[in-house]
Amino acid sequence: MTEERKKQLQDSFARVRAEIAARNPEAILLAATKTVPVEDINYAIDHLGLTHIGENRVPELLEKYDGIHKATPDGKPVSIHFIGHLQTNKVKYIIDKVDVIQSLDRLSLAEEIQRQAEKHDRTVDVYVEVNIGREEAKSGVDPDKVEEFLSEISGFSRIRVAGLMTMAPKCASFEEYLKYFAEMRQIFIDNTEKIMHNRLEACLSMGMSDSYTAALEAGSGMIRVGSTLFGARVYPEVRK
Ligand SMILES: *Cc1c(COP(=O)(O)O)cnc(C)c1O
Repeated sequence: MTEERKKQLQDSFARVRAEIAARNPEAILLAATKTVPVEDINYAIDHLGLTHIGENRVPELLEKYDGIHKATPDGKPVSIHFIGHLQTNKVKYIIDKVDVIQSLDRLSLAEEIQRQAEKHDRTVDVYVEVNIGREEAKSGVDPDKVEEFLSEISGFSRIRVAGLMTMAPKCASFEEYLKYFAEMRQIFIDNTEKIMHNRLEACLSMGMSDSYTAALEAGSGMIRVGSTLFGARVYPEVRK
């Protein structure tokens, strides 16, 4: 890894951390690491205090999993989250590797997570994904159906609902993002009891590179930032 690259990562992490400190110091920084080489991820874990990473493709997670450091040098565990759309038939590949599945958006997926969790004799933390912009093309539970969905999955003994996650629609301004995130924050508060069975650590995961400052303002508990930390993504298909 070049010194220049290390410097870039130091600077970008410092910038995002400064926003967190200024707007919402409690919020967790999760690095969205799709297309990011393991070397860069490990540099951030070893030298920049990174403790939460999110992958969103099953094959890529499996490919990188063994190489990713599982703790920081001072012994803090690294938590690996699955943040992408999850096909039901792929749950079995990641069930023993991820700490949280952030993209629970349908009953059939909950059923499969329950089944695989039983097989592995473990409990799985999930966040329920909410489609806050009510966008046709996006996955996520309709904002008006969150409570109903939480009731439906409350009987799954191996699933612990540990929060809510959302991806806001693409907006043109801070204020526009703030509107969606404020609505999401309200849904989170309204459902808090149900979600966390009165556990205070339930998490609201919202905010990405173009929206994390607004999300922090609205009370996000976890921002998921990729390109602002690591630079524009280069997908394998177009890599020369
Ligand atoms: C890629 C991704 C992010 C981060 O996106 P950036 O715009 O690069 O910050 C956050 N959440 C999910 C679910 C993602 O897939």
